[in-house]
Amino acid sequence: MQKFNVGVIGATGMVGQRFMLLLAEHPWFNVKVLAASARSAGKTYQEAVGNKWAFDCPIPQQYLDMTVLDAEKDMEQIGAQVDFVFCAVSLDKAATKALEERYAKAEIPVVSNNSAHRFTADVPMVIPEINDNHLEVIAAQRKRLGTKRGFIAVKSNCSLQSYVPLLHPLREFGVKEVAVCTYQAISGAGKTFTTMPEILDNVIPYIGGEEEKSEKEPLKIWGEVKGGEIVSATAPAITAQCLRVPVSDGHTAAVFVRFENKPTKEQILSAWENFSGAPQSLQLPSAPAQFIRYFEEDNRPQAKLDRMEGNGMSVSVGRLREDSVYDYKFIGLSHNTLRGAAGGAVLLAELLAAKGYFAN
Ligand code: NAP
Repeated sequence: MQKFNVGVIGATGMVGQRFMLLLAEHPWFNVKVLAASARSAGKTYQEAVGNKWAFDCPIPQQYLDMTVLDAEKDMEQIGAQVDFVFCAVSLDKAATKALEERYAKAEIPVVSNNSAHRFTADVPMVIPEINDNHLEVIAAQRKRLGTKRGFIAVKSNCSLQSYVPLLHPLREFGVKEVAVCTYQAISGAGKTFTTMPEILDNVIPYIGGEEEKSEKEPLKIWGEVKGGEIVSATAPAITAQCLRVPVSDGHTAAVFVRFENKPTKEQILSAWENFSGAPQSLQLPSAPAQFIRYFEEDNRPQAKLDRMEGNGMSVSVGRLREDSVYDYKFIGLSHNTLRGAAGGAVLLAELLAAKGYFAN
């Protein structure tokens, strides 16, 4: 595989910092440019991040003295140096949409962590193991944008990565209704225990916009490509409640599911164990060998013990049992800033690279 030069827009943020760690020794991607807001522009990466560095390990040496560019003002300079950019910014929806479209129209492909374009019909929202076929709509998107190589591809919200990958292999049994409660880590809000002290000894029963995303995004992921657009699925019915809990990383989901054709427990376990997708068959660098890992122990999966399964890219599951109201219930877990954010975006970029979407 050829090496690609990449930029990270929002490099100073929580997700941006994760990108810096994941890309430090990436076999295909070489970080050429770091960009953020005008507040950080002109500073070295070390100065711009300051005491916001969120990890125990140090900032990788090669980034310390790189000058942070202004994502808006320096777009041309950025575009001249990179094959594509990752984007994770805290801007409002309209401003994020406009920023990402400006890059795409300037022939700089954008792999985005932001939610702004998730429901643009010709923008693929991809969990690489599940709906890699949605990349087909990029041709129609390029036509709309008037570009040859520029496009936007997005990853889905972090919350649903702790249950959608577990429901997906069970769709052959007709997943009809799903009720889910997510218990979400504070890094999902870009916070640490230092910057979110109010979460200690506490549970906060509201995360703005999260329940709607958790109910709606899975239907686009399970949608069909028709006439250059993705048409969302109409089933299953999903109801979600999302809580913020005092956990640094790792979103847990308590899931209840009803089927058209109720499978046996063994059928479910076998469907999970044997499921794999394009990242595994293409042997992408960030693909976990085992996408879904089932734990037999009653007290697993646990965020603290199991979030790093498959380098934070596997989805863990346990406590599968019959339910008295639904057919089955189980507990899922995924790492929200790895599989759920930067890691998922890096895996998506690897998929795009392997399928030739960054070619000139
Ligand atoms: P964050 O820690 O607040 O970081 C925000 C980043 O955006 C910073 O680098 C900031 O730069 C940059 N920024 C702000 N205004 C900008 C502008 N006008 N132009 C360019 N860059 C600008 O936020 P985060 O948690 O990393 O989240 C970033 C995005 O990823 C959000 O859309 C979020 O919804 C999404 N996301 C987050 C998670 C997660 O687990 N945290 C998961 C999935 C998706 P400065 O430092 O210069 O201000």
